[in-house]
Amino acid sequence: MSAVAEIVPVGELPPPGIVPRLMHAATLRQDRYGQPRDAFAVEQVPVPSLGPRQVLVAVMAAGVNYDVVWAALGHPVDVIAAARRRGAAEDYHIGGSDGAGIVWAVGEEVTGVAPGDHVVLSCGVWDEAADDLEGPAGPMGSRSAGIWGYDIGFGSFAQFARVEQYQCYPKPPELSWEEASVYMLTGATAYRQLAGFPPHTVRPGDGVLVWGGAGGLGSMAIQITRALGGVPVAVVSDEAKSDFCRALGAAGVIDRRDFDHWGRLPDIDDGDALGEWMGGARAFGQALRAAMGGGGAPRIVFEHPGEATLPTSVYVCETGGMVVICGGTSGYNADVDLRYLWVRQKRLQGSHFANPEDCAALNGLVADGRVKPVLSRSFSFAEIGEAHQLMHENRHEPGNMAVRVGARGADA
Ligand code: NAP
Repeated sequence: MSAVAEIVPVGELPPPGIVPRLMHAATLRQDRYGQPRDAFAVEQVPVPSLGPRQVLVAVMAAGVNYDVVWAALGHPVDVIAAARRRGAAEDYHIGGSDGAGIVWAVGEEVTGVAPGDHVVLSCGVWDEAADDLEGPAGPMGSRSAGIWGYDIGFGSFAQFARVEQYQCYPKPPELSWEEASVYMLTGATAYRQLAGFPPHTVRPGDGVLVWGGAGGLGSMAIQITRALGGVPVAVVSDEAKSDFCRALGAAGVIDRRDFDHWGRLPDIDDGDALGEWMGGARAFGQALRAAMGGGGAPRIVFEHPGEATLPTSVYVCETGGMVVICGGTSGYNADVDLRYLWVRQKRLQGSHFANPEDCAALNGLVADGRVKPVLSRSFSFAEIGEAHQLMHENRHEPGNMAVRVGARGADA
């Protein structure tokens, strides 16, 4: 093999048709689990080989998401140990569950994409031969389903990523590589939460409470709610984020620092503590109705902070409405006062990433310009740890962060 084909520097591509033996990858290893800043190291590792229906993508830019914060911490799941139990050979993990790049090589049964295609990658992965793909939750509800870059390695934090052919979607041509790399995970997740659970889909005029409105999910949820005709009200924790959410389309914004009843519910026998909690929840409900322009309660509550906010979400949701949750940033041991759920006939719905129809619908909204990627900041390949540290500390700028891999500068 020629020297040029052994490995190429980050920011460069090999000649078309040449797959190098090695690649630069930002790896996680078990002995580095901990603060994200120190958990990643750039190493040279073999370029992954392909199965018949798999695709090798030269990553131009990668998106930063919360799942790899969890992976870097090694908690609550040791992703390397979990992958090895499922048969993975590697003692390292390459994260990265969002990315955009150029199809570089394909397995012999791949028909949907070809070398040279510009693609945006989705992170939902399942066994195409599984017998439970047609269940009520779709392929993402299959026992075989997992998240590429988290459950499954060879994610986008490397020069080459290995994906299944069904993970590839056409890249909207007007977007930069970095813009294209940041919207699929949060956008498709948000789309499924807001449109994937009939009859609780956003209808024109529906109020939608969006926690973390300036975050990755929230910035997509505000725009998707607007695109579907709903009225989003965002929650944030600082002034600048408030302006950001309004600019994206939020009808109103609430600063959660004005309240202090967050977290798990007090003991049901502690009347004083419960009364205090109820006072906080009622005050939040009033602020919410005011933010919605004096209207009723939100028909859909878009949840992901989890433990800190779920009791309030269930309380403020409209009678017959839905709290739809996909995460637990503040903790996953959350309380529900079931009286509000059953008497008011509310629905508490779990949601995990998205099925192909959700990804395609979201990609269509982006291609049509109705939902815009919200690129907050672009990092160099060496700064992957820093980007995840900022996210871990909730000090990242509003929107979604990108990492340049093959791309150089603002666009390439
Ligand atoms: P992000 O960009 O960090 O945004 C999260 C937002 O949540 C922050 O902007 C913050 O906004 C808010 N927040 C943080 N702590 C909070 C608390 N204690 N109470 C209320 N709000 C709080 O992260 P993201 O990409 O949106 O992801 C959010 C969560 O969803 C993560 O836990 C992630 O793992 C999960 N997730 C799950 C899926 C799935 O498919 N299951 C997909 C995507 C994300 P303020 O400080 O301004 O309020």
